[in-house]
Amino acid sequence: AKEPVRVLVTGAAGQIGYALVPMIARGVMLGPDQPVILHMLDIPPAAEALNGVKMELVDAAFPLLKGVVATTDVVEACTGVSIAVMVGGFPRKEGMERKDVMSKNVAIYKSQASALESYAAANCKVLVVANPANTNALILKEFAPSISEKNITCLTRLDHNRALGQVSERLNVPVSDVKNVIIWGNHSSTQYPDVNHATVKTPAGEKPVRELVANDEWLHGEFITTVQQRGAAIIKARKLSSALSAASSACDHIRDWVLGTPEGTWVSMGVYSDGSYNVPAGLIYSFPVTCCNGVWTIVQGLPIDHLSRKKLDLTAEELTEEKALAYSCLS
Ligand code: NDP
Repeated sequence: AKEPVRVLVTGAAGQIGYALVPMIARGVMLGPDQPVILHMLDIPPAAEALNGVKMELVDAAFPLLKGVVATTDVVEACTGVSIAVMVGGFPRKEGMERKDVMSKNVAIYKSQASALESYAAANCKVLVVANPANTNALILKEFAPSISEKNITCLTRLDHNRALGQVSERLNVPVSDVKNVIIWGNHSSTQYPDVNHATVKTPAGEKPVRELVANDEWLHGEFITTVQQRGAAIIKARKLSSALSAASSACDHIRDWVLGTPEGTWVSMGVYSDGSYNVPAGLIYSFPVTCCNGVWTIVQGLPIDHLSRKKLDLTAEELTEEKALAYSCLS
């Protein structure tokens, strides 16, 4: 039998946490034959709720779940973890300036970086979900210098999956027949959902999405805005944020990273830029990646047209500004 893997979820008493921990305990994230020990961290005001989540995990009697650590102590939470999913963050409250939210989160991610650096298992893989996700991940990377930059990522898989879903609905095909959309850039409204390289499985072989949709107006307009504004649409409808799909996409992100992407398929991940596609090096930016043996690689050589180029640059500019703002909060 396999040794259990320790998986950290921060902000575990929150909405996404509540949807995410049972998925992990069921094997959705690491596979149906991989036992897990869940480490759940939250802040003291949420300690009682966190304990309630722990009680429910016990009650659900998940066969793969070999232990639960529920704590408000960041060192205890980080000790020995091989996977860290960072969902906890300071929410933007009414009347707060962007700088105030950034400043709170920079402080949180700086201290959690130090704890992961000192206490996590070697080669721990980190996924940041809490917003501003790309910049929180960058701060985490800066303050955990012994964790490889290849091991620090942020979530844009939900946006990627939303793009697959929109194409599937538009063409009335199963979502599993659509692949290779791309989310470029920031997990924010400047992200660029790109279908120029996406394909659909048809009885006559794989066809480009652009050819099948044959409506550039939709692809350049409503498609992009629907994906960009989907989170807000769900809050409006549910009066609560999109926790189920965020949790499911976080599982997809880690599963593909650890177990690999299928041949011929790429996914979107926020990763440390090496300058590919002329994106400034040193930003955490969402790229198309393939994964093999636990390592992601940016897909190279995709042609970028003029319109796409402008959108790639726009979202990079926003990330450069966010990075500067984050650094100004540190000093
Ligand atoms: P959620 O679980 O709904 O969201 C957590 C974070 O994920 C937020 O930053 C949220 O951003 C972000 N996020 C990213 N993608 C999505 C998406 N698609 N849909 C919704 N959210 C998304 O928040 P809760 O408030 O329910 O839970 C947060 C938990 O974190 C609480 O239990 C709280 O106690 C804890 N916390 C921990 C802190 C710490 O570690 N020091 C500090 C403050 C809180 P956005 O805000 O933009 O929606």
